[in-house]
Amino acid sequence: MKALEEKIKKEGIVKKGNVLKVDSFLNHQIDVSFLDKMGDEFQRLFQEHKINKILTIEASGIGIAVMTARHFGDVPVVFAKKSKTSNISDDLYHTRVDSYTHQKTNDVVVSKQYLNENDHILIIDDFLANGCAILGLIDLVKQAGGTVEGIGIVIEKGYQAGGRKIREAGYHLESLAIIDSMDDECGQITFRQV
Ligand code: 5GP
Repeated sequence: MKALEEKIKKEGIVKKGNVLKVDSFLNHQIDVSFLDKMGDEFQRLFQEHKINKILTIEASGIGIAVMTARHFGDVPVVFAKKSKTSNISDDLYHTRVDSYTHQKTNDVVVSKQYLNENDHILIIDDFLANGCAILGLIDLVKQAGGTVEGIGIVIEKGYQAGGRKIREAGYHLESLAIIDSMDDECGQITFRQV
């Protein structure tokens, strides 16, 4: 998505530790009309799938997941929660996710009420790096007996392993922008040409 690449080039800040900050439109302040355009693009990319629910992980995935849901006939959005306790409960599906930006492992949960075997799920998230968050969400859908129809990512860091792992596992993964390299010294970002 060319407009996204331009926006990242203009507003993105490359931080030390291989982290891109896009707080001006996605991760802190939300540019609603721009997220709406990205939601429209996800609808175009996944239009051949029958999707009845969108799954994401708190907090940064929620905005883009909600805007995307508007383009799929207002399907419900479920966001997996980062749990403070690791108490196993019969009412919850649990998985463990290593957090890329906070260097810790979270117990991530979804209530069994909101995921089930009839669900055809589009997973949405803001970033894809090593793939831990997405693999955790796939695990939750599998536990519920549902089907992962596709995975939509706003920004994939293509030089990290997540995208390859998920594509090799056979999932339909679409990223609106794929970064091939970024330099925290000069701030330069290079996008994959597709
Ligand atoms: P993964 O689990 O694929 O290693 O990392 C993806 C998760 O970590 C995303 O949910 C996102 O919140 C966070 N993340 C990974 N890389 C970045 C980055 O460069 N910038 C920001 N803002 N978040 C990132």
